[in-house]
Amino acid sequence: MIAASRLTRSIQNDLIDKRSIQKEDRTPVTVADYGSQVVICKILNDAFPDDPIVAEEDSKELSKPEHGEILAQVTNYVNASSPRVSSGEVCQRIDLGSGSVSHRYWALDPIDGTKGFLRGDQYAIALALIENGTVRVGALICPNIILNTHGGGKSRGGLFVAARGQGAVELDITGDSCRKIHVSNVNSPPQALFTESVESAHSDHRLHLELAKKLGISRPPLMMDSQAKYAILARGEASIYMRIPSPQTPDYREKIWDHAAGSILVEEAGGKVTDALDRALDFTCGKRFENNYGIIATNGWLHRTVVNALGPLLP
Ligand code: AMP
Ligand code: MG
Repeated sequence: MIAASRLTRSIQNDLIDKRSIQKEDRTPVTVADYGSQVVICKILNDAFPDDPIVAEEDSKELSKPEHGEILAQVTNYVNASSPRVSSGEVCQRIDLGSGSVSHRYWALDPIDGTKGFLRGDQYAIALALIENGTVRVGALICPNIILNTHGGGKSRGGLFVAARGQGAVELDITGDSCRKIHVSNVNSPPQALFTESVESAHSDHRLHLELAKKLGISRPPLMMDSQAKYAILARGEASIYMRIPSPQTPDYREKIWDHAAGSILVEEAGGKVTDALDRALDFTCGKRFENNYGIIATNGWLHRTVVNALGPLLP
């Protein structure tokens, strides 16, 4: 995770330096997405050769001749920090992530929050181990999150790790200064801060606002890209994360890699994560949560109140 974040950070820095890159050019995030997947799949496959990895990307598009320039860029970034590999090996390593959901598998999002990445804002790399439908371990690296250090100072970049039954911790981006994290103890909705996506296409901001009003929450939401929202919830800075499908995409089903690491992080920090109908997330049915609708994550104290208030508002 740390090695992958070095790669993605160097691409994001290059992106910020090169002002000539047009905003609508998605090449940098594409390169970062593939590069991050190469780095993590290789390390994971070396350590656990029998475990399937279910990752967001595959090399189908990248290996087409018309994308040779992008493949060359991915290969260059990968080679900047590891023993040299050919572009063919880069594609092979990406495809280590083409495993299927089974009784034991890893879910990987090599870059979560691509829009945030392109804006120079929040994004995350997310990895989780799922066994028999239960997330056992989750790791989330948020290279741009502000970290509260032991000395009271602030630094940029956090690594969040949770293991089932063992709590959740926050480390700095190099893997040092480990500290336990815990959700907030806010138990009165008006005191709660809620968080949601920046992108209005990814969830129903109007319905979130309606729910917030019903709960007596007057503070505006904290809008943030990626699973960094789960990290903010896990360390008690927000108390509710709402993600109701947008009316433009009512049939959208959430992807497992967008929630596996974040959900165990919040649960092990003392919170609760379900779908909008208070059902457990079902990690057994494939890449999408076919049996779930939206996501509600809270500090636990507020969960029942939020889910009960939400019910009558749902379409
Ligand atoms: P966020 O940064 O929280 O807005 O979430 C980013 C994630 O939203 C991406 O990784 C996508 O997988 C996911 N996504 C893409 N389209 C949609 C959609 N229509 N509704 C909900 N999530 C989406
Ligand atoms: Mg994602």
